[in-house]
This record gives sequence, C-alpha cells and structure tokens, in this order.
Amino acid sequence: MNTNPINLSNSDLIEQHIEEILKLIGDNPDRTGLKDTPRRVAKMYKETFRGYDPEQKPVITVFPNNDDGIKYNQMIGDKGYFYSHCEHHMVPFFGEYYFAYIPNKKIVGISKIARLVDYYSAKLQVQERLTIEIVNELERLLKPKGIALVMKARHLCKEMRGVKKHNVGMITSEMRGVFLKNASARAEFLNLTKDN
Ligand SMILES: [Zn+2]
Repeated sequence: MNTNPINLSNSDLIEQHIEEILKLIGDNPDRTGLKDTPRRVAKMYKETFRGYDPEQKPVITVFPNNDDGIKYNQMIGDKGYFYSHCEHHMVPFFGEYYFAYIPNKKIVGISKIARLVDYYSAKLQVQERLTIEIVNELERLLKPKGIALVMKARHLCKEMRGVKKHNVGMITSEMRGVFLKNASARAEFLNLTKDN
C-alpha cells in the first residue's frame, strides 16, 4: 500500500483510477463534461487530503502567558467551520466547531486554531477521532489548565442515503482539565456552543 501523500505521480494514478470509476458507474469519461473531471478530482484531492502530508502541518507558535506583564487566566474561545471526509464513504461531513481553553503558561494566536482544524480535517476521518486529534495536539502545545472542543456536523453519507432526514447533525466533544472537573467552567463553555 502506498501511504505517501499525494505527489505528482500519485496524482497521475488518481486521474487514471477516477477515469475507471467513471466508466464503472456507467458514464462515459470521454464526453465533454467529464473530459477534465479526473484531472480536476486529482487536483482537488491534493488540497482536500493534504492532511496526509506532514510537511503541510501548520507551524503553531505559542507565546508566554505574561507578555506585557499581563497574565490571562480566563477562558479563551474560538469558533469556526470545518470540512472533512468520512472514512467509511469518502463523502463530506462538515459543520461548526467550538473551541476553548484556559491558559497556563502558554497562549496561542487564535487564528492558528482554524489552521490546525483544517489540517486534521484534510484526510479521511471519523468525527470522534478528528475531535480528539485536534485536542491532543493543542494540549501538547499549550499544556493548558483546561481545553474543550465541540464539533457539530452534517454527514452527507447519512443525509443522501436511505431515509432523507435533514438536520440530523452529529455532535462530538472532548473536554479536559478544568472543563472536566469544574461544572461552571463547563457550563460557560457549553453556553458558547449554543449561540446559533
Ligand atoms: Zn460515512
């Protein structure tokens, strides 16, 4: 099995295999609309599956939590969107994430959270593992007093097939440290996840 991230020769092979799949599902890869589809899919995979390439892992710089003589001890939160692919069907699952931490000695630029979420989302995943991988990495970097992540997602493999129920989101969460031990810290964070 080739476990290398997508490089140029892999990209050619992906094109060939997508062309085969187009034939096997009953379509004609030579018709105008599909002519460039294998190339486009291979090119898109380079981006949407870049999470297999360790060189593309974002470099996250952390700062001491007492720059300018100010030490921050409260919850720092972030929210955003994420897009991943389920490993069982290779179709997207996507939604919102809510992140918070209570710093100890280190803090991180909040925009870096989104870049890390994007990176770990860019491979075949299950939502449970995605949630844990992001928290593990940030816990390792920050060693915070508390860290929490909630992910709410729509899974197209579920929505597109069988009984077509909409808004049947899946929610995963991972809480550690203060967020696990202290009910009011947890409540403060969970309140943040409810604002839409
Ligand atoms: Zn699936």
